[in-house]
Amino acid sequence: MTEAQVKQQICQIGKRMYDSGFVAANDGNISVKLSGNEILTTPTGVSKGFMTPEMLVKVDMEGQVLEVAGEWRPSSELKMHLKVYQGRMDVQAVVHAHPPYATTFAVARMPLNKPLIAEAVVSLGCVPVTEYAAPSTKEVPDAVAGYLEHFDAVLLANHGALAWGQDLLTAYHKLESVEFYAKLTFLSKQLGEAQELTNTQVECLYEIRKKLALPGRHPGNCCKAECKVICKRKEALLDD
Ligand SMILES: [Zn+2]
Repeated sequence: MTEAQVKQQICQIGKRMYDSGFVAANDGNISVKLSGNEILTTPTGVSKGFMTPEMLVKVDMEGQVLEVAGEWRPSSELKMHLKVYQGRMDVQAVVHAHPPYATTFAVARMPLNKPLIAEAVVSLGCVPVTEYAAPSTKEVPDAVAGYLEHFDAVLLANHGALAWGQDLLTAYHKLESVEFYAKLTFLSKQLGEAQELTNTQVECLYEIRKKLALPGRHPGNCCKAECKVICKRKEALLDD
């Protein structure tokens, strides 16, 4: 992809985020790593549904502005994005939004850890909630750092959702999957009849994921002792 194509894609994904109701007003941010030391980020103070390519800001890995048109300034949450790139060399894109169901779980500080739908078990495993940190402070990247090794998405306590991936579409799809998983978990609780997948069924789905050799990280493959704490799932679930 050329840089111009990446800029177009960032604007398209911003529109999808806005049209999906994942962000209100000027909320949310997107970034894409172009090369070893160059990152394109969305500007602060702009609705993500109405961005044009010239609004995007190019920064380096320290967050210093390299290229900008006019008065645009990089996202106030850039530090959080930089932390992800620093911790995960395989990641090329980071997406942050406030999708209503996912953010409801973030507000309740409830991780998404119920094995309810097969796709969520395969693609996400579970989604932990980070420690609370005030938006745009340096505590936000610190809160996210501990989850980078084993996860591709987290809920930010009392704030929203953050996802990352090998490219922008992958990162955005993770975000959509988190919101869908949160919505399903919420609605099935209202219905009151949800049947969780058994440990054996979950193990089988983890095996399917391994066979598919999907990119990214997944807690099913991580240090089991750590995951037991992070995911708060039944111990047997992570013992294979
Ligand atoms: Zn936010």
